[in-house]
Amino acid sequence: MLEQDLKTYLGLGRSLWSTPEASFTPMLDAIAGASVATQDGAVLIERASTALLTRSLVAGIEATADRVAEPFFRLSPDERVLLVGLHHGRWSYSRMSRILGTDVAASLQDMPRLAWKARMHLASQIPGLNYPTGSARNGMSCPDYDPEDPWTQRFLDEELSQRERLFLQTHVQGCSACQKALNSCRNLYYAVEKWIPTVAEYGRDQQMMKRLKTAARQVRHLYHPHEMTLGQALVTFTLRPETLTALGVGACLVYILSRFH
Ligand SMILES: [Zn+2]
Repeated sequence: MLEQDLKTYLGLGRSLWSTPEASFTPMLDAIAGASVATQDGAVLIERASTALLTRSLVAGIEATADRVAEPFFRLSPDERVLLVGLHHGRWSYSRMSRILGTDVAASLQDMPRLAWKARMHLASQIPGLNYPTGSARNGMSCPDYDPEDPWTQRFLDEELSQRERLFLQTHVQGCSACQKALNSCRNLYYAVEKWIPTVAEYGRDQQMMKRLKTAARQVRHLYHPHEMTLGQALVTFTLRPETLTALGVGACLVYILSRFH
């Protein structure tokens, strides 16, 4: 399991519940449940994220009632999960569509539109931010600007093919209108990022990540003990209460016997 994925997963919890503490048990349950079915770290995070989102939908408005005054928490749970995945995890549109439970084939249309709508909503709450617009087509080579799914957003979300990206990089160097459109979208991108709940690289957040990882591993071993290495099996064995009792009794006996020799 990648650290960045786990960190993003922690960010999803932060975006779906008002406090880190309230989000932790649902995150623990979701990751433990998902680990029963797969040991592929990437798939595990996706399934746990879907389960987490579903659980927050069941919890309803209660989950974030304390923070509803903040613009980010007025987005729908889908939109919040999407923005955390895109900004913190650099997760792709197709991965986000799997997590949100939509059809992958539709992801190229649905994900950028949903992301743009969410970003536009946040932009409207940021004083002084210029509303991102496209360029009027100055030349024949200017890319089409779809106001609901602009190329500037796909560029920043890294959702373009290498060829498209190269074309646009070259184009904006010679076209001030498209350069301006890209810059205004970039400003929006970083302004929106400041609203998204963060996860620290240290302290409590690191402890939470460790506990999530351990829970996933332990549940996996519980259901699939044959996957354990000898070392892991011995650690698991020695941590069992009855083993610890037996070891304690054994140590006492050794001590007592040594006193009589
Ligand atoms: Zn242009």
